[in-house]
Amino acid sequence: MRVSAKLDKINGHILQACQKVNRSPEDIKIIAVTKYVSTERAAEAVAAGINNLGENREEGLLAKWEVLKDKPDWHFIGTLQSRKVKNIIDKVAYIHSLDRLSLAQEINKRAEKTISCFVQVNVSGEQSKHGIAAEHAIDFIKELAQFSHIEVAGLMTMAPNTEDETVIRNCFRRLKELQITIQRLEMPHAPCRELSMGMSNDYTIAVEEGATMVRIGSALVGEEDEQVQEVQRR
Ligand SMILES: *Cc1c(COP(=O)(O)O)cnc(C)c1O
Repeated sequence: MRVSAKLDKINGHILQACQKVNRSPEDIKIIAVTKYVSTERAAEAVAAGINNLGENREEGLLAKWEVLKDKPDWHFIGTLQSRKVKNIIDKVAYIHSLDRLSLAQEINKRAEKTISCFVQVNVSGEQSKHGIAAEHAIDFIKELAQFSHIEVAGLMTMAPNTEDETVIRNCFRRLKELQITIQRLEMPHAPCRELSMGMSNDYTIAVEEGATMVRIGSALVGEEDEQVQEVQRR
């Protein structure tokens, strides 16, 4: 299926979710996560009107950046090793995975302008998940004030891998509550206006709970449909 057709569907679902909770769809940005797909497919997403692309590895980001350059805004959404920061820092608009001081230090050192960062929070406490524990997030963000090139644009989380909608919803809700607490502190380096949450399987729940950026991969740029059709044709 073409990206544009998938995008129409997703926009429809986002609109529905917004109507449920009285939000405006304009307040939600779709990040197309292109980590599993080709540069051509990423280009198709940009042509379909998507201005934000997400990659979780340096190699993938650089390969696609070579072709698409600054046409879209680039979001680094994966675990970021400090030694890789210098290779991606001048290409990304947002880093979604800030979760430790050593990484903040490296970003601050390499950046030539202010970098919008999301503090990744491990709300669910699952061991497999990266991110800082929710109870440490505020102290961590306070410490980030020392880094002049870092702005805490918002918080990011990944919901637990479960079918249980209540568990997912509670995770997003807790991130929203944490955002409100942080906003009340009115720290100049941490306006924390954004919430990066929701993926292919749970973005409508995330929108209902206050997401301003949803990171959608398979449901938006996935090529599985075509593959299935190919197999059937053979
Ligand atoms: C892969 C990935 C996504 C998108 O996942 P889908 O389920 O394909 O939508 C979103 N966020 C992060 C951090 C990812 O690594």
